[in-house]
Parts: sequence; C-alpha cells; structure tokens
Amino acid sequence: MINLILLGPPGAGKGTQAKRLEDQYGLKQLSTGDMLRAEVASGTDLGKKAKEIMDQGNLVSDDIIINMIANRITQPDCQKGVIFDGFPRTLAQAQALDKMLSDQGHPLSAVIELKVDEEALVSRLNNRIAEAQAKGEPVRSDDNEETLRKRLEVFRQQTAPIIPYYQTKGALKSVDGMADIDAVAKAIDGLLCKDKGCTAPKVGMS
Ligand code: AMP
Repeated sequence: MINLILLGPPGAGKGTQAKRLEDQYGLKQLSTGDMLRAEVASGTDLGKKAKEIMDQGNLVSDDIIINMIANRITQPDCQKGVIFDGFPRTLAQAQALDKMLSDQGHPLSAVIELKVDEEALVSRLNNRIAEAQAKGEPVRSDDNEETLRKRLEVFRQQTAPIIPYYQTKGALKSVDGMADIDAVAKAIDGLLCKDKGCTAPKVGMS
C-alpha cells in the first residue's frame, strides 16, 4: 500500500497529477476540496457551512476535514493506496493524518511538493477563467483573482509550515511545478518509480 501527499499552493496542478496517478497506478485520489464541493452541491449542513468559508478563500475547520478523511480512508477503494490532494493543509491535519495512517499500519510513503511561482499561478488562473468563459463553461465560485490571492496567503501562513515538518521526517520530495504537465508527470514518476516500466510506485521515506 502506498500513501502519497501532493503538496502545493492552489493552482499548482495537484489535481491534474493526482488524477493521472490514480489512473496509472490504481491509487485513490482524495481531494478534500472535491469532497467539500460535493457537500455544497448536495446542500448538506456541512456544505452550507463550508461554502461561505471556501468562497472567502479561508480554511474549513480541522475537525470537519479530519473527520471527513478518517471516514473516507477506511473504505474499500482506498485499500491499494491514496493520493491526498489538498490535504493536509495545517500542521494539526498533518499530525492527525500521521496518527490515522500509523493506526492503520500503512504509514505515509512520500510527500511530493510542487514548487511554483505565485504570480505565474495568478496569470494561469486568469487564462483558465477567460478560456472557460469563452467556451461558456461554469467557473468555480472561488476561482477569481481576489480569492486566489487570499488562498495563496492562507497557504503561506497555514500550510507552508507543514513543509519543514515533512522535511524533518525525511518524507519530502520536490518537483518543479512550473514545467509543463508532461514534464511534471515525468519528474513525479522518476521519484516514485525508479525502474523502467514499473507499474506500481516503490517509494519509501529516505
Ligand atoms: P481546493 O479544491 O483543494 O483548492 O479547496 C477549495 C477550498 O476548500 C479551500 O480554499 C478551502 O476553503 C477548502 N478546503 C479544501 N481542503 C481543505 C483542507 N484540507 N483544510 C481546510 N479547508 C480545505
């Protein structure tokens, strides 16, 4: 079983890479953002509470998120391994995840950090919005420059401290997230799979 975290600010490409890893290696992508958006779409109490926080670019409370993940990782589709996308986002979440995984007997395999330039993320977002609008596609309610800047600030203040936390544990691996999607994919595969033609990632804490 392999458990990976994809770490990086909003818009760094975590979701794109997590979906690819899911298809390629049969791991399960768990995106807390997607899980929250599903709650918002179904109009649950949790969704109603979360929507306002998400639209402001703030973080939903650790308790809610940790509970959501704790319930999810015990399901059968997570048994081969999980790619955490957008989680953990605080030190408390990181510590809770460590505990959950060690209780399950399947500790974290690696944390892959996508290193990106913030200004480039803002222009990527503006391009994405313009493209979606040109095609008449819906745009996420938290997808606008103002909220992205707030989310980047929240990332720096609340999420970035988990980088040294994982570094100390010897779990952190970094790739250049500004490269194109295929190059990022290749860099991640290089970290996960040292052998040619490998179909299951073989990483461990170094
Ligand atoms: P994302 O799709 O990962 O960018 O998440 C969208 C929004 O959902 C974030 O801006 C937060 O408001 C909320 N969210 C997602 N994951 C978490 C998390 N692990 N902890 C707290 N809030 C989260």
